Amino acid sequence: MTTAILYSGLGLDRAHCLRRDGDIAELMRRPGARFTLYWRGRQLVAGTPPAIRWLDRAYGLRLAEATAGNCLLLGEDGAGPLLALDVSGLEAGENGPEMGGNWVWLRSVGGLLPAQDSALLAYARGVLVWREKTRFCASCGGALLVQDSGHSTRCASPSCGALHFPRTDPAIIMLVTDPAGRALLGRQPVWTPGMYSCLAGFVEPGEALEDAVAREVWEEAGIKIRSTTYVASQPWPFPSSLMIGFNAMAEGGEPVADPHEIEDVRWFTRDEVSTFGEADRPGAEGRFLPRRDSIARVLVEAWLKG
Ligand SMILES: [Zn+2]
Repeated sequence: MTTAILYSGLGLDRAHCLRRDGDIAELMRRPGARFTLYWRGRQLVAGTPPAIRWLDRAYGLRLAEATAGNCLLLGEDGAGPLLALDVSGLEAGENGPEMGGNWVWLRSVGGLLPAQDSALLAYARGVLVWREKTRFCASCGGALLVQDSGHSTRCASPSCGALHFPRTDPAIIMLVTDPAGRALLGRQPVWTPGMYSCLAGFVEPGEALEDAVAREVWEEAGIKIRSTTYVASQPWPFPSSLMIGFNAMAEGGEPVADPHEIEDVRWFTRDEVSTFGEADRPGAEGRFLPRRDSIARVLVEAWLKG
């Protein structure tokens, strides 16, 4: 798999020693510290084409003091620490606080940013969304103390002391083919009409990834899987998934859609899928493939190329 997967391949040194041993308040004051900002689910970019709008140490420190927002050490480059700061405490209109850039949803611009910026914003988003949603100890309801430069928390109650880490929910996604070389694509009723994609689902407790592939294909399409081959994975921090992509070989047979989750599922030949269009210009019978920044699309394109 040589195709670059959006949000993956971050080259940044995550500085694990600094994360563990450093003091976030001190790291924020180091020369060369730079901040990327998060505000109520959106992140700050600037320019055409867009890129991360980094704020320097002085600006970042002022905002940190003004908002008392969550701060996170992302890593370190030759110039100093890179940090992510949640400034959701700032009041602003629909366009967000004025910071010399645009507040964007990563999902809507991820494919337009430099690849390393997309990967870095996905990383920052994953941890900050977790911090935003994890306000109290899940074991006892107690207050949490932040540690590891923002990457974990510990329950403040001496009788509990539970550790909490950002969660990553594994989800499998698979391009299923039959012995005739056709691909199994389906659609959920909540999707935009016309879009067909790979089957996918979350891994359940007590399942290996291969088990989850076989179960999901059986549940959603009534098709038995003979073998699975791992292809690639994609961080998907919307809010906390890791998409794990497979090719799967089916035994064959005609698919039967799960009426609760799947509106339509069927075998398509390469010639048929080649006529599918894009969301803004659907192809034959109004059908189109998922966005190019998704691992689903990467799996389909690889199959189309044979
Ligand atoms: Zn606790």
